[in-house]
Amino acid sequence: MQEITVTRTTQPKVKPTDESKLGFGKIFTDHMFLMDYEAGKGWFNPRVVPYGNFSLDPATTVFHYGQAIFEGTKCYRRADGGLQLFRPADNMARMTRSAKRMGMPALDEETALAGLKKLVELDADWVPHQDGTSLYIRPTMIATDVMLGVHAAARYLFFIICSPVGSYYKDGLKPVGIYVEDEYVRAVRGGTGFTKCAGNYAASILAGDVAEQKGYSQVLWLDGVEQKYVEEVGSMNMMFAYGNHIVTPTLNGSILPGITRDSILTLARQLGYEVSEERLAIADIFADIKSGKLTEAFGTGTAAVISPVGELCMKGEKLVIGGGQIGPVAQKLYDTLTGIQYGKLPDENHWVTKL
Ligand SMILES: *Cc1c(COP(=O)(O)O)cnc(C)c1O
Repeated sequence: MQEITVTRTTQPKVKPTDESKLGFGKIFTDHMFLMDYEAGKGWFNPRVVPYGNFSLDPATTVFHYGQAIFEGTKCYRRADGGLQLFRPADNMARMTRSAKRMGMPALDEETALAGLKKLVELDADWVPHQDGTSLYIRPTMIATDVMLGVHAAARYLFFIICSPVGSYYKDGLKPVGIYVEDEYVRAVRGGTGFTKCAGNYAASILAGDVAEQKGYSQVLWLDGVEQKYVEEVGSMNMMFAYGNHIVTPTLNGSILPGITRDSILTLARQLGYEVSEERLAIADIFADIKSGKLTEAFGTGTAAVISPVGELCMKGEKLVIGGGQIGPVAQKLYDTLTGIQYGKLPDENHWVTKL
């Protein structure tokens, strides 16, 4: 691991006082972590510095060809005031997998992880206290060559910023309505669906906007070839419960392998649920909702942990799932995973890093 230098801010910001108004990703802490890369030299100059603007040439390649990938993880405050991270090394490993697909360099995962810890420790007072709040951590890698030729860049910047975020659910777990997208697609096999690249989001924004205008909070993506099979939702993996049997789409290359997905599947097995990963036809899902066999639907992701789906709409057909209420499987898994993340339940899978 490389030595990380620290430059403290001389102008600390005023911290938000009302934690019920934090929202998501609007406020940033006093510091950030940066590290540079040059071909032939590798990653160098890892440093924690005061949070601030970048100055980049307009010809910087990330603006033109979009070599940009990111991660999302959180730091949680325990009841005793201590801080803990949840599976942060898995985020760094996933960033390296994203990087390879995008022609970007593998991350120096060890130094990045040490930088993340140093940054969070320095900005520890920014980790909010209220139930359900956390510090959202956003590692990002961008290409910084200055040229207009289409090539993998030779220079990159890795940075981490942090944002105190509010509870996703102020009044308990609230089911959302999801719009099944039948026109646009997000990813195809052989593409970048399994990476957390900025371009995947760019390609999804229009559909999300249209769904929002129709009153739905996110879109459910179908496969990019036949538009028949369930892939995932916006920034969440999708799961369905048939009583105590949980099914989720197989990781087929066009779906993001969520760390929450993996954690939920692991916990579900340990809690005695039956779990399977399958290719799921949306037509079957709709038939099973109608027949009452399918009892719950929910998304999984770092931001919301679990987001119950109370309604699905496809081509104008609207179906309510589980009476529009949160079901027992989603509630149990939410309570168990957040219990571990906030240090209220034992961490038998060794997922937590205490700071
Ligand atoms: C980040 C993300 C997820 C959720 O991944 P987690 O590791 O659980 O946060 C799911 N789908 C997409 C497209 C994502 O970008």
